[in-house]
Amino acid sequence: MIYLDNAATTRMDPDVLKEMLPYLKERFGNPSSMHYMGMEAKNAVEGSRKKIANHLNCQPEELIFTGSGTESDNLAILGFARQNKERGNHLITSKIEHPAVMNCFKQLEKEGFNITYIDVDTDGIIDLKQLENAITAKTILVSVIYANNEIGVIQDIPAITDICRKNKVTFHTDACQATNYLEIDVKKLGVDMMTINASKIYGPKGVGVLFRRKGTGIQPIIFGGGQESGLRAGTENVANIVGMAKALELAIKMGEKESARIGKLRDRLIDGLLELPETRLNGHPTKRLPNNVNISFLNIEGESLLLMMGEEGIYASTGSACSSSKLEPSHVITAIGMPHEISHSSIRMTLGRQTTKKDIDQVLDKMPGIVERLRKISALNMTMEHVLGDKHG
Ligand SMILES: *Cc1c(COP(=O)(O)O)cnc(C)c1O
Repeated sequence: MIYLDNAATTRMDPDVLKEMLPYLKERFGNPSSMHYMGMEAKNAVEGSRKKIANHLNCQPEELIFTGSGTESDNLAILGFARQNKERGNHLITSKIEHPAVMNCFKQLEKEGFNITYIDVDTDGIIDLKQLENAITAKTILVSVIYANNEIGVIQDIPAITDICRKNKVTFHTDACQATNYLEIDVKKLGVDMMTINASKIYGPKGVGVLFRRKGTGIQPIIFGGGQESGLRAGTENVANIVGMAKALELAIKMGEKESARIGKLRDRLIDGLLELPETRLNGHPTKRLPNNVNISFLNIEGESLLLMMGEEGIYASTGSACSSSKLEPSHVITAIGMPHEISHSSIRMTLGRQTTKKDIDQVLDKMPGIVERLRKISALNMTMEHVLGDKHG
């Protein structure tokens, strides 16, 4: 089995599981309980909060534990917009957000907010001029994804936060895909809010954290007990929180070395696949995550390709896990100006810690045959030049 779907989720590191196990077994107390076992659980949560705060270069009180990356995005965007609506009803985001962000803005439109969706260029980089020009006296929040989950494109977050600070607008970024490889020091980035989760960094599924700079007003989206300073009710997922702290520690320790190692494998994979006729790399060639490959194989449906690859034990994905069951073209590939022929024929392969050079060579060995077989039975016979016109090459 060759797992090339690390942007969907990663395999938990054994050291992470080891740290979690006591909190799934004998240390099962509720952090809110007044007795010894409650204190033990509370200490585990607060210790994890301190560790994560150190890694992000913020205060422990500036972190809120949540149940996922999706929930952190929702808390940041819905929580901020609703809390600050008296100051203005205009919000800005990009056209290439993860559904966890995009659908928050769709919800806010229904609640009467005005949203501006900023364009990206054909490489997937957001238009900073357009962003700056879109800011009005009514703008309260900008949210832009740090590294895109489908095409791996990395945005210049410090440049965006400069613009936001100059205009006194709060900024949130979804950093779920960036955490393994990129700078996540919130002071260096200049972000006011930042979302990360554990399932993308070799930690457990079902836990996220929201960094919220002191003084950034948000209101809860979940109501109940007073946990997380009243901003996220519900008994803390102690084991997952402990696991997340360990996963982040390992991600930071391994980040640079892994970036270099995986980056080389990624380039080997891209170069090999682009040798096949009528193929195209989607997203910026260098401003992209070291583990992301998104390629279109013209005249083939991405889904058929995945099925055949699956039979050969190669597991990849079309764009995002969240949109792959729908038939509409990916909003991200559409936003980089690509027609549906390119979108429907694209697949995403995302490398990870367990990926070896042997894996990549096996994939490069198998893909030409798979692609050829599918093209033989395809009724389509288009060329990139025909489909893309001016945008080709
Ligand atoms: C995976 C992911 C999410 C959602 O995280 P969950 O923990 O699955 O809810 C949000 N944003 C990005 C960029 C992601 O990659």
